[in-house]
Amino acid sequence: MPRIVFLGPPGVGKGTQATTLAQQLGVPHLSTGDLLRAAVAARTPLGLEAQGHMDAGRLVPDDLVLKILGERLAAPDAARGFLLDGFPRNLAQAERLAGITTIDLVLSFELPAKLLIERLAGRRVCPTCQSVYNIVTRPPKVEGKCDRDGTALVQRPDDRPEAITTRLAVYAEQTAPLLGFYRKSGLLRSIDAAGTPDEVAARVRNALH
Ligand code: AMP
Repeated sequence: MPRIVFLGPPGVGKGTQATTLAQQLGVPHLSTGDLLRAAVAARTPLGLEAQGHMDAGRLVPDDLVLKILGERLAAPDAARGFLLDGFPRNLAQAERLAGITTIDLVLSFELPAKLLIERLAGRRVCPTCQSVYNIVTRPPKVEGKCDRDGTALVQRPDDRPEAITTRLAVYAEQTAPLLGFYRKSGLLRSIDAAGTPDEVAARVRNALH
């Protein structure tokens, strides 16, 4: 039963890799960012509380994130294992996660800051099916339209330049210390996140063996 955490800065390609690996392993891809964005879109009380933090690029308070993730982890499909993408984001979350479940492996995705900014600034998403594109490295077949359903692609509010700067600073201050935390427990494997999604996926598969 694989219980894997995907760790890395915003823009590193964790979500893309987690989607691929989750399909291969047959376990759910649990992205706290996606869960929160769905709550925002549905205008639930939790979503309304989270939205301002997210749009500014700050972390959403731990209790809100733990609530939404705890509910998702309790669903029957997560009993077979899961890929956690975007959680934990600080030491308090890592400690609370350890109280809920065991983690078998932590994959740390690494990429120079300049490339992270390029990937974030070029990212476009489909508001209907959540497919992710990049105007430079992974453009849709028809400019501005989703390949799967033709919906007009949009930019996430937190992929605008001011929010990108905040998100990278939040990562360095609050999330990067988790590398030491998981290295000490012997769970950490580093993945070079440069190159195409297929190249990175091959490195992920190697790290699993
Ligand atoms: P992501 O899609 O992982 O880049 O997450 C988008 C935004 O959702 C982040 O910038 C945070 O505002 C919020 N978020 C996602 N996961 C967490 C988390 N584990 N803790 C706090 N905030 C989170």
